[in-house]
Amino acid sequence: MSVTWNPWHGCRRVSEGCRNCYVYRIDGEHGKSGGEIRLNADFLLPLREGKQGWKVEPGETVYTCFSSDFLLEEADPWRADAWRMMRIRQDLHFVFFTKRIERLGGLLPSDWGEGYDNVTVGCTCENQEMADRRLPVFLELPLRCRAVVCEPLLGAIDLGPYLNSRRIAEVLAGGESGEGARVCDFEWVIALRNACAAHGVRFSYHQTGALLRRDGRIYHIPRASQHDQAKRAGLDLC
Ligand code: SF4
Repeated sequence: MSVTWNPWHGCRRVSEGCRNCYVYRIDGEHGKSGGEIRLNADFLLPLREGKQGWKVEPGETVYTCFSSDFLLEEADPWRADAWRMMRIRQDLHFVFFTKRIERLGGLLPSDWGEGYDNVTVGCTCENQEMADRRLPVFLELPLRCRAVVCEPLLGAIDLGPYLNSRRIAEVLAGGESGEGARVCDFEWVIALRNACAAHGVRFSYHQTGALLRRDGRIYHIPRASQHDQAKRAGLDLC
């Protein structure tokens, strides 16, 4: 079981993978710019109690900060409270993805040690340039559980040197959705999957994206089918 917790909302673009960010797209549909950064009403969600105990029940996976970046500069004043909630709710598993991994080392709470057992951090790498910039930093951080998120996948990525470290538990891959989506080549996905298979790392092909190139042909995949089509490719490694 899983829930989504968006303690704050809004972001700023930092790299190519942000070009068609859905936070901006969804805000645009509501007449907002997407650059407006604010705390959400759900900020205290992990600590909310109902009649039967915690509203978010023990054992849930909590996907954190999916309408922003957990390490966004403007969220620095709020993050200490978010860490505190993660520490209090050790019966939950928190997962956040970031394109600002270079900031994490300076933002960890004082009792972090080698990492909280109940936090997985995903480092997003949309192409080889970002993998080569972000992953060396990522691998040196004290973390209990690391994932690499290649979504939106914008080019071929050789993850082999990083998977060799044995510090990456999982790789997720997917294409880009929405207006202006860029092509994702199936061969790029296969290459990531094969690298994971060679290193005994879990792999998940999350979604095809809107434009999939396969055997030289471009397929337009409706949003409703993107997840199912990826799963039907049978590439996942558990
Ligand atoms: S870091 Fe993530 S949330 Fe922020 S602009 Fe880029 S894609 Fe959007």
